[in-house]
Amino acid sequence: MHFTEPVYRNPYWPTWPLLEVTRGCTHNKCKFCTMYKNVQFGMSDMEQIEEDLRELAATNPHARTIQLLSANPLVLSYDKMAPILEKVNEYLPEIEHIYLAGRVSDLRNKTVEQLKALKDLGMNEISLGTESGDDWTLDRVNKGYHAEDIIEQCAKLNEAGIVFWHTFLNGAAGRSHSREHAINSAKVFSQTKPMLVGTGGLILFPGTPLLDEARAGEFDPLDERGMLEELLLFVENLECDCEFITHHTIGGMNLTGPNFLNRKEGIVATLRNEIESGDLDQMARRRSMKRSL
Ligand code: SF4
Repeated sequence: MHFTEPVYRNPYWPTWPLLEVTRGCTHNKCKFCTMYKNVQFGMSDMEQIEEDLRELAATNPHARTIQLLSANPLVLSYDKMAPILEKVNEYLPEIEHIYLAGRVSDLRNKTVEQLKALKDLGMNEISLGTESGDDWTLDRVNKGYHAEDIIEQCAKLNEAGIVFWHTFLNGAAGRSHSREHAINSAKVFSQTKPMLVGTGGLILFPGTPLLDEARAGEFDPLDERGMLEELLLFVENLECDCEFITHHTIGGMNLTGPNFLNRKEGIVATLRNEIESGDLDQMARRRSMKRSL
């Protein structure tokens, strides 16, 4: 198999095996991310993809799921993506779910009809690293799209019947715009009807522009209490019937699971309780131990 490091396997997807169809990230400019800094974006040639599929057909002939790599294979145009999915189906005829990650902006180059056709080929679940629904915050971390794009592109996914995830990057706006980030993200995410909302907590990794800005006093990061208060505000304003998962620093709170709206009251109560009496130092320690996204 051909893999270009780093390989990120979504821990929440039951995806095995992995197939590299792209490497790196086309954007590579988010101010909190260094994951693909040393990798130039590229697409695997069909010869390499078929070689890997032949290997998978020999080792995993009954595979029902597969995750396409890397950061945003979703960026591939319909004309490039459809033949890859056809090959996946040819070599792995029992495939039911083809998962991939992508950026909201990756959907701009596809029509609803093309998305429907890709869905028919098995592309039925997408993880969008959306991070925020607030324009100020999206600009601040240099995501390269705005709330209007999120609403427009997700409407296409809904029309095509492709389910998708949003991630909320807790802490991304720093102290000054925390409130707007929480409320506007919850509103935009709710409007788009995602299957799942996941939250990740901002960590200022070495080498990121956001860390440099924090050191220069230009970005004022939230402390653990501020992170929880922002997450609480986000949850209070989130109104979608989705699955909900939370980031590692608060993993012990048991907030993760399906049927968000049925559980929302309990999640709010837990977060309020943690803000009042939780071990914030332990959360800070967990955060400081993480080395990559
Ligand atoms: S966060 Fe995602 S879109 Fe942004 S640079 Fe990193 S991999 Fe690329």
